[in-house]
Amino acid sequence: MSNKFVGAHVSASGGVFNAVENAVEIGAKAFALFTKNQRQWSAKPLDNETIDKFKKALQESGILPRHVLPHDSYLINIGHPEADKREKSMDAFLDEVQRCEQLGLDRLNFHPGSHLKKISEDECMSKISEAMNITLEKTKGVSLVLENTAGQGSNLGWRFEHLAQIIDKIEDKSRVGVCIDTCHMFSAGYDIRTREAYDKTWSEFDKIIGFKYLMGMHINDSKAKFDSHVDRHHSLGKGEIGLDAFKFIMNDDRMNDIPLILETIDSTIWKDEIKLLYSFEN
Ligand SMILES: [Zn+2]
Ligand SMILES: [Zn+2]
Repeated sequence: MSNKFVGAHVSASGGVFNAVENAVEIGAKAFALFTKNQRQWSAKPLDNETIDKFKKALQESGILPRHVLPHDSYLINIGHPEADKREKSMDAFLDEVQRCEQLGLDRLNFHPGSHLKKISEDECMSKISEAMNITLEKTKGVSLVLENTAGQGSNLGWRFEHLAQIIDKIEDKSRVGVCIDTCHMFSAGYDIRTREAYDKTWSEFDKIIGFKYLMGMHINDSKAKFDSHVDRHHSLGKGEIGLDAFKFIMNDDRMNDIPLILETIDSTIWKDEIKLLYSFEN
């Protein structure tokens, strides 16, 4: 039996429980979802009926909570240089974590934050760690999973060192992790196209961050060129990364038992992409 748990970031429209059905439909063994509208600040709280329906659907699907990787809203920036805006982000972030708690999920994937060229990288990273510590204190059972970015604009988290620096200041390290997005990694200047490049990049990852923090991956090809710092996802094999990198991942034991989530651009072929990935296993 495979130790890989592949899925996609499926739609939760009409209710979070629909995400489970959407995942099952494409043959996924893992999935990602937004637990609220990702482009709005506020959402109505999850009611008990919705929570029960989600938990029941998940149990029936056979997908384990640890293979579900919720993604927070794109509006949130817990490293925001302005106090009032950062506070708004922290409130929304806390709400996101609490929604995961309610749904019985154990991890929340988010983008570290942006300094907006108003504060230094170090200051911004300190703010991110501090906000994470405050959120961890107010919640239980949910790990905060930092996603690496492509480094577009003033987004932090594109260098492994950024993620390591943020983790370093987290008080409860048992509740922090990282999610590595292959498209972001590649466009940030970490090559994975050949065996040699793949091994070099991941040994750097292990040295700087450590595999014990790897709690999920986003499996995407890249429309943008290597080291371009441009975030443009593509379908597997159709972009600049090519299929070899995904073959390496599917045969790499270090990626066992974590959600491997497609965020590729054509949702109509997710089912085929999942099949393709499993076909790569030796
Ligand atoms: Zn993301
Ligand atoms: Zn991603």
